[in-house]
Amino acid sequence: MQILKIKAKEDLKLSALKRGEIHRVQVLVSDNAMGVPWRVPLIIVKGMENGPVLGITAALHGNELNGISTIFKLIKEVNPLKLKGTLVLVPISNVPGYLENKRYFSDNVDLNRIMPGKPIGKTSEIYAHHFVSKIVSKFNYLLDLHTASHGRVNSLYIRADLENEETRNLAYLQNPQIIVQKYDEEGTLRSWANDNNIPAITIEIGNSNAFQHTLIDETLEGILNTMKYLKMIRGKPVNMVDDAVVCDNSYWIYSQRGGIIDVFPNLADVITEGQVIAKVYDVFGQVKEEIKANMSGVVIGKNVSPNCEAGNRVLHLGVSVMCPKPGHIPGNN
Ligand SMILES: [Zn+2]
Repeated sequence: MQILKIKAKEDLKLSALKRGEIHRVQVLVSDNAMGVPWRVPLIIVKGMENGPVLGITAALHGNELNGISTIFKLIKEVNPLKLKGTLVLVPISNVPGYLENKRYFSDNVDLNRIMPGKPIGKTSEIYAHHFVSKIVSKFNYLLDLHTASHGRVNSLYIRADLENEETRNLAYLQNPQIIVQKYDEEGTLRSWANDNNIPAITIEIGNSNAFQHTLIDETLEGILNTMKYLKMIRGKPVNMVDDAVVCDNSYWIYSQRGGIIDVFPNLADVITEGQVIAKVYDVFGQVKEEIKANMSGVVIGKNVSPNCEAGNRVLHLGVSVMCPKPGHIPGNN
């Protein structure tokens, strides 16, 4: 297998890649303290005919791994001889974070808060700058694959700006359990992409540090739906959900006391205002705090780590259901 290496001052030219083939590419984005390059691996599926460039990024938080398996499964599904356009798959976006099995970059900065980085700046900013300019700027559409943080669990849910028709359609195409209206938070990859006319959504796939194949297979189906919608492959989108829970917003509920916490609701449960969602015990087993939902909503994610300091995140609650439906999507009955 041949690997194409893109050096520091070289540009990745998608147009120069041979059509009808899968290309493995390493893009040099920056150097570590040994002077050894950090190379971001890309799998580029170049179709026979012209069409959009769909970019899929995973592990921008280095311990959020379900997206890697999703990408590996996707390669097996796509025949470059029958593809229109180009798939650019980035299984490991945050190389140093992945190597240390942690969310952050090597300097403990969250890459997904500093996009698009700076050409001259902190180590994470330089990496982010080259990651965006050499890779993500080539995309026409972006699906950014994430998971819950360590110690928490998530449903399959989408963060997208539902007031924008293009990103709203991308959100519904994924068949998620839950869609949350989120304006683009500054510094995120999604925000940079949408500001630069690359429609982008965030797909949150379950938990960190794991491969969860049921959620991975559901995510894969959503990506294939997206490719059908963009006419990159033949067919109509399937299983478009009418019953996704759509939330206008989401909030974290925090503990006020420290101790040992037990969080009761399951993912995707609907809970009502005033319901007891967790109890914090002291080390002698006595209840110190009963945490109640301060509004009704649906459980997007929750803490599963029993040791709890005062002010820890307990439960991620999606609220309200007043967002618009998708625009017309072929196959969406
Ligand atoms: Zn993440």
